[in-house]
Amino acid sequence: MPQRKSRFSSMVKAKLSPEVAALAGEVVELRRHIHQHPEVAFQEHETAKFIEKYLKQLKIPTKRLVGTGVVGLIDSGKPGPTIMLRADMDALPVTEENTHSYASKNPGKMHACGHDSHVAMLLCAAKVLKQTGLPGGKVKLCFQPGEEGADGGGAMVKAGVLNNPKVDFAFAMHVWLPMEAGKMAALNGPCMAAVDEFTIDVIGVGGHAAYPHKSADPVVAAAAIVGNLHTVVSRDVNPLLPAVLTVASVNAGTAFNIIPPKATMKGTVRTFHRDVRNLVERRIKSVSRNTARALGCKVEIDFRRMLGATVNNRAKAEFVRGIAKQIVGARNVVDAEPSMGGEDFSRYAERVPSVFAYVGAKNPAKGIVYPHHHPKFDIDEDVLPSGVELHVRVAMEYLSRGKR
Ligand SMILES: [Zn+2]
Ligand SMILES: [Zn+2]
Repeated sequence: MPQRKSRFSSMVKAKLSPEVAALAGEVVELRRHIHQHPEVAFQEHETAKFIEKYLKQLKIPTKRLVGTGVVGLIDSGKPGPTIMLRADMDALPVTEENTHSYASKNPGKMHACGHDSHVAMLLCAAKVLKQTGLPGGKVKLCFQPGEEGADGGGAMVKAGVLNNPKVDFAFAMHVWLPMEAGKMAALNGPCMAAVDEFTIDVIGVGGHAAYPHKSADPVVAAAAIVGNLHTVVSRDVNPLLPAVLTVASVNAGTAFNIIPPKATMKGTVRTFHRDVRNLVERRIKSVSRNTARALGCKVEIDFRRMLGATVNNRAKAEFVRGIAKQIVGARNVVDAEPSMGGEDFSRYAERVPSVFAYVGAKNPAKGIVYPHHHPKFDIDEDVLPSGVELHVRVAMEYLSRGKR
């Protein structure tokens, strides 16, 4: 892997305000500190204390929500709307394979999704916003725990993060490895998929493997169900609308000569549109039930809706793109593809106008190419100041123009 260049020999061309440029070193130091001390969902105790300490130095009042969530408030003291800037805080149960000086010090845990950088960027943005002063209204700083499959966003909403003061606009960004460093995106409409999870128990009649005619074999039924489920997306869903159906786990049996009484399958569905989501759920149930019945078995299905799709408010996405263009230039604000991954920022976006932006962070010249959740995941840190700038300008321009 090529040596990483010194951190400010950047290929990232970003127009930074002097206040943000002055924090270019600090945002990297913050990110590296958090990177070395990763904590997984709802165990972000040290991360929360670190955030509180930083905000306390800035004289920004904070409160705790849902244990490790930290919410800060910058209040102009003048009338105006409230914008919420959100950073997720949690790491993943991944053993880091990077060997750089700031690699994870917590065995089996790693910031392999980039949430370390989200915290660092939002802390620096808070510093600039507090020191510059707001034109009106308020900025709520939402440091959210448990994004990775733990629905910390849902927990924060239930705990009232969108109230007192009431949030008018929620904004977040994700460092994004599918995109080159120096590029930004804020999509119109759906950008992260709805996430559903299902478990299908296929119940047959067990017996001796040499006498299949005296059993109802759930292994054969499960195999047929997997095959038939793969017709749902290809035959039932409108080809112009995205959907993923993956059977990710199949388990049955204990020995070569026993037909087991049961087989269990688990999988996930990813969609963007409500009608497609409903259709796929209905078809999974019907295809499984009827396939099993044809083979003398029955099914018990547990279908759980985990998260809705993250859907950007179109007018506000355009507003954010306009600001991103000022920072990285019009040709670097790109039409990224929506992701079939899930994101619990949807919990906010379902309730208030919201934008979830991508900040490109891939840099093949530095060997930074590994995808999110990979043990060698890394980001080009040169993009961090531009993310701080995006937070700051989105907040300042939104508040100076009032509700849009
Ligand atoms: Zn992730
Ligand atoms: Zn993430």
